[in-house]
Amino acid sequence: MHHNIKKILYTAEDISARVRELGAMITRDYQGKTPVLVGILNGAVTFMNDLMRAIDLPLCHDLMALSSYGDQTVSSGTATILKDATLDIEGREVLIVEDIVDTGITLQRVLTHLGSRRPATLRVCALLDKPARRRMAIKPDYHGFTIPDVFVVGYGLDYAEAYRELPYIGILKVNG
Ligand code: 5GP
Repeated sequence: MHHNIKKILYTAEDISARVRELGAMITRDYQGKTPVLVGILNGAVTFMNDLMRAIDLPLCHDLMALSSYGDQTVSSGTATILKDATLDIEGREVLIVEDIVDTGITLQRVLTHLGSRRPATLRVCALLDKPARRRMAIKPDYHGFTIPDVFVVGYGLDYAEAYRELPYIGILKVNG
């Protein structure tokens, strides 16, 4: 275990088993459709890569980027779009893929933005749900794990751009 990690919450095996379950649910729910997965950079890239191979359907994927926390561990309260999705999603089944929903500010911004393009359906799959600090009345349609109010890294999640490569999800030591 990395010396700046206080505790491992989910091992690589836990994550891959849960991603397979999510993939099976999505495969069942989108039968006969070709969903468009929209991943939110940078944190969701690892999850989206694994998730799309766990879905047994033809699909497309696109990416969006929003302003992040920078080097902070708390949200700034606003989310600005830095990179937009470019695929035409009108009339399509769109599934937003997020690493973690915390306050919900990022997700609300993405939902409003993509919703205005008139997709047939617009749902959310988040690996982690952290409901304790939610400020928007939203919850992901699919989520991997519900976590308490702790700051986690690994499996794509960073702190100041570090730790994304860890294969597990762990709680960062304070001042780590
Ligand atoms: P929200 O807008 O819901 O407050 O925050 C969503 C974004 O904040 C996530 O996409 C993620 O980048 C970041 N975030 C929220 N909680 C955590 C956490 O515990 N660890 C890390 N590494 N990022 C987090």
